[in-house]
Amino acid sequence: MRSDHNHRHSITIIGGGFAGTLTAIKLLDAATQPLDITIVERRADLRRGVAYSTTEAVHLVNGPANIFSLHPDDPEHLARWLTGNGAANGWQPPEDVAASTPPRYLFGTYVRDELTRGIADARERCTFRHIRSSATSLRSAANHVRVTLANGDAIEADEMVLALGVFQAGLSAHEAPVSGHPAFAANPWDSAALDRLADGKDILVIGSSLSMVDAVASMEARGYRGSYQVISRRGQFVESRRDAEPARDFLADRPLPATARSLFSLVKAERRAIAKAGADWQGLPLAIRPYILPLWQKASDRERLRFTRHLRAFWDVTAHRSAPDTHAAIERAIGEARLSHRAARLIELASDGDRILATIRTRCGVEALTFDGIIDCRGHQLHDWRRTADPFVQSLLAAGEVRPHSTGFGIDATTDGALISRDGHVHRNLSAIGHPLRGVAWESSSITEQRAGDHACRSHPGKNNAFGTVAS
Ligand SMILES: Cc1cc2nc3c(=O)[nH]c(=O)nc-3n(C[C@H](O)[C@H](O)[C@H](O)COP(=O)(O)OP(=O)(O)OC[C@H]3O[C@@H](n4cnc5c(N)ncnc54)[C@H](O)[C@@H]3O)c2cc1C
Repeated sequence: MRSDHNHRHSITIIGGGFAGTLTAIKLLDAATQPLDITIVERRADLRRGVAYSTTEAVHLVNGPANIFSLHPDDPEHLARWLTGNGAANGWQPPEDVAASTPPRYLFGTYVRDELTRGIADARERCTFRHIRSSATSLRSAANHVRVTLANGDAIEADEMVLALGVFQAGLSAHEAPVSGHPAFAANPWDSAALDRLADGKDILVIGSSLSMVDAVASMEARGYRGSYQVISRRGQFVESRRDAEPARDFLADRPLPATARSLFSLVKAERRAIAKAGADWQGLPLAIRPYILPLWQKASDRERLRFTRHLRAFWDVTAHRSAPDTHAAIERAIGEARLSHRAARLIELASDGDRILATIRTRCGVEALTFDGIIDCRGHQLHDWRRTADPFVQSLLAAGEVRPHSTGFGIDATTDGALISRDGHVHRNLSAIGHPLRGVAWESSSITEQRAGDHACRSHPGKNNAFGTVAS
């Protein structure tokens, strides 16, 4: 912080999705000195980002309300808010609201209300503004950071936080031939594209994780009664979240495994022991989650990349389970023999009049099948900053203000989120939260990790590292 008496400390957050809005709320709540907060976000609505922009009531958060309170020291906070505000927002709170999985649009509204409350509580010390524009370039100096915006303005602040979320990759070469075809939903949250498929008889769903659950729930809510063929490369299929007790702390009191292979062996042995004891394997991710950060940090880049290549699909399907209420739509479709799933790889999509011809490779050979609709649920998240065309990202890299993380996931930073420049300098006034830190802390994009951490703002030094230990 500057020492001149009249200087008010200022922090600009670039990106006003969940992570950026949460950062503002934490800063407002923690401020004891005068503080000016600015969020630069091109969307009109702060706090929603991709995840909470959906208006469909069947798109739920993927865990119970009691793990998504914005106040870790008050786990019932979200449940109380839901009890008081759910009905007015079109959602009837169930009896056990703490165990319920509310719609994501409602979670977005909760975050907005918390921001409004934070601004009101801190009004005597803090100012807050949202500038609706995109950041295009940034330069840091020893005691300030300057960002230029697409609207031509420039802002200076003592500190800046990058909360840019994740970037989207374009369509793959296999899908490009059907880009714009009315039977192809390239984005599983594109309501208009799903509406067009509602009267069809058969749909191919590419991908079998949480986006697939959203897509099937959306189609069922539209009255679709045809079939779904779900394919995924490894044949993994997302499971419904059960209320399991955490498994025993099997990673405690031993040196943490340093290789993906040794971790996998330990987890497999533990899973066998759990099955033998007749307990629920869903307690296992709860026991592993607090160790994700130390495991990730201990591993070499070679082992981290081995994890992303060979174990990521298993981890994702184990850790990221779906809300039981949406999963019921999947189970119903399976029960009615309308949904099947198998391991297969997409080779090509081609237009076939109103329908689409999909060529896929299964374990038994190549098949060519036509469908009334195709929904792409692979996510297409692009974590490698070198490969995105985003002008702000390219400008940050070209200026050397940040450097790509050595794993290719996001950018390099200290464990408390302070960014590291191309020449290895640790910025004292430039930090990041969420997706940009995937290479530094694997689960940095989840609600619980973002909520648990204190980022590297100098005016708000963290008690923990950026991603405090959490269990979800
Ligand atoms: C469909 C979906 C469902 C999910 N559900 C869950 C869940 O149930 N539980 C969970 O833990 N996690 C969930 N997630 C993970 C999710 O990524 C996080 O919860 C969280 O939304 C990430 O927030 P973020 O702020 O990092 O990214 P986002 O919310 O995407 O926000 C990034 C923001 O930055 C803005 N931006 C980018 N570049 C610029 C620029 N140059 N200038 C100005 N603004 C810019 C964008 O407009 C955007 O609004 C889900 C993710 C998705 C996609």
